[in-house]
Amino acid sequence: MRALTVRQPYADAIAHGAKPVENRTKPLPPKYAGVSILLHAAKDPHATRITATDLAEFTGADITPWTDTRSAILAQIRFRGSHLSSDDTWCCRPWGQVPTRIQPVVWHWEIDQVILLNQPVPASGALSFWTPDDAVLTTVQGQIDLIERASA
Ligand SMILES: [Zn+2]
Repeated sequence: MRALTVRQPYADAIAHGAKPVENRTKPLPPKYAGVSILLHAAKDPHATRITATDLAEFTGADITPWTDTRSAILAQIRFRGSHLSSDDTWCCRPWGQVPTRIQPVVWHWEIDQVILLNQPVPASGALSFWTPDDAVLTTVQGQIDLIERASA
């Protein structure tokens, strides 16, 4: 299973189900549409230094359960697909970014499933999509199995 690294506090926002869209400069690779992947929280925070409190003010998200965990797998997620953001539609508010002079092309990757792990699984990240090592995958899968059995 592949993983996608996201910086905090956005990783928490996705893992806890607040943020249903991921802003990227490229469309979702079609081969990842409808496929479960792992959400990994990066070691370093977002370059803008935006905080969870900032996000709560901006979006109304409940940040109480957010833990700001870094360098770990937080959840299993799934993207349905992606669409191009435009000034005209201003879609996916408040989480979807609109194009700007600095970032003229923005794609919204649509998240349609999130399974939050009970315990984050430590792992080093990488750019773009990457494959965690077998020990990490086994630990994550064990948790997913328990969660799915409990909800069945
Ligand atoms: Zn959108």
